[in-house]
Amino acid sequence: MYIYADNAATTKTSEAAIRAMTKVMEETWGNPSSLHSTGQRAKEVLEGAREKAAALLGCEPREITFTSGGSEADNMAIVSAAKNGARKNKKHIVSTAFEHHAVLHTLKKLEKEGFEVTYVEVPENGVVTVESIRDAIREDTCLVTVMFANNEIGTLQPIAEIGAVCREKKVPFHTDAVQAVGHVYVNVKEQNIDMLSLSAHKFHGPRGIGLLYAKRGIILSNLIEGGAQERGKRAGTEDIASIVGMVTAMEEAVRTIDEHAALLIPKRDRLIAGLSKIPHSTLNGDPEKRLPGNVNMSFEGVEGESLLLLLDDRGIEASSGSACTSGSLDPSHVLLAIGRPHEVAHGSLRLTFDADVTDEQIDYVIKNVGEVVEYLRNMSPLWFAKVEGRKEFYL
Ligand SMILES: *Cc1c(COP(=O)(O)O)cnc(C)c1O
Repeated sequence: MYIYADNAATTKTSEAAIRAMTKVMEETWGNPSSLHSTGQRAKEVLEGAREKAAALLGCEPREITFTSGGSEADNMAIVSAAKNGARKNKKHIVSTAFEHHAVLHTLKKLEKEGFEVTYVEVPENGVVTVESIRDAIREDTCLVTVMFANNEIGTLQPIAEIGAVCREKKVPFHTDAVQAVGHVYVNVKEQNIDMLSLSAHKFHGPRGIGLLYAKRGIILSNLIEGGAQERGKRAGTEDIASIVGMVTAMEEAVRTIDEHAALLIPKRDRLIAGLSKIPHSTLNGDPEKRLPGNVNMSFEGVEGESLLLLLDDRGIEASSGSACTSGSLDPSHVLLAIGRPHEVAHGSLRLTFDADVTDEQIDYVIKNVGEVVEYLRNMSPLWFAKVEGRKEFYL
């Protein structure tokens, strides 16, 4: 059996997106900045895609800037808010300890440039409290940035409520919604969001394309200098094929959110129940406030890396954290942020599904994860030390 269970890392491009992209590459290959008809036809397609994306997010077309993906959108949002803040001598930012590295590393860079960042603590269930954000906001806060859904443990944050607090305190609010758009309901107006990042390849669109929504009035700073594309804020000839592929995938994903959630949630919960029967294991993240397709478990006494490789041999493709941390020996910063000890964090497994997953595949995963965990534990001196009472169990 073959099961791709790493949809939080990337998703398979949908057929509709591929078809739409091919059509653009064949028929609308002009440069939208050109004044001739070929260029203007490309411009029309580009602006049509922007209108559709805006309608799906609940904003105005001119509030959308196309980027190379989620990372660039995160960088642009945060750097812009920081520059806007610095002009008013506001150099404090509120975020959380379990953001994506695109956010965390941008914040680290700003700290070196003299900004102060408060990383709000994440409770054990992986859901940040509105109160903790409210308490962290100061007179000199120029940005609050909190992710919509966590990419490792899938937990959903109280975005509309955090947005309401930011409105009340008159602080711009950015959310990295890369894992959320196309998976749960997102509407920037209703949810009080001032800036939002998304990325096509997390909802069955192509890689290398994303967008930043920034509410009218927020001044964006260029990360890339050059031509006047994207209202002068993001130079470089637009990748219209990818933009159209993204919007096609986004329309499909948004249209099927409820249908897909209804398919996924019972399977997700059955998988969680099945894997929780493994002794000394735990679910990471809230059992309910989580993405429909996300399961993240820790198994004491195993190495996540070994678990992944042995599961791959059995046709199950999963992840032990984010794609960026696999390959390094550092435990996941997300699991540490929710208070998992290093050793437990090391033995974690993330399985992320799309709506095509079948009941047979779920059964296969339950059976094989159980077998592999047992196999690895039987080879581990540390495990035997725990079983024999020479060391304490965490879980
Ligand atoms: C994947 C991801 C990103 C990065 O998006 P890219 O398009 O790969 O640059 C940022 N934030 C989150 C939460 C993600 O899951």
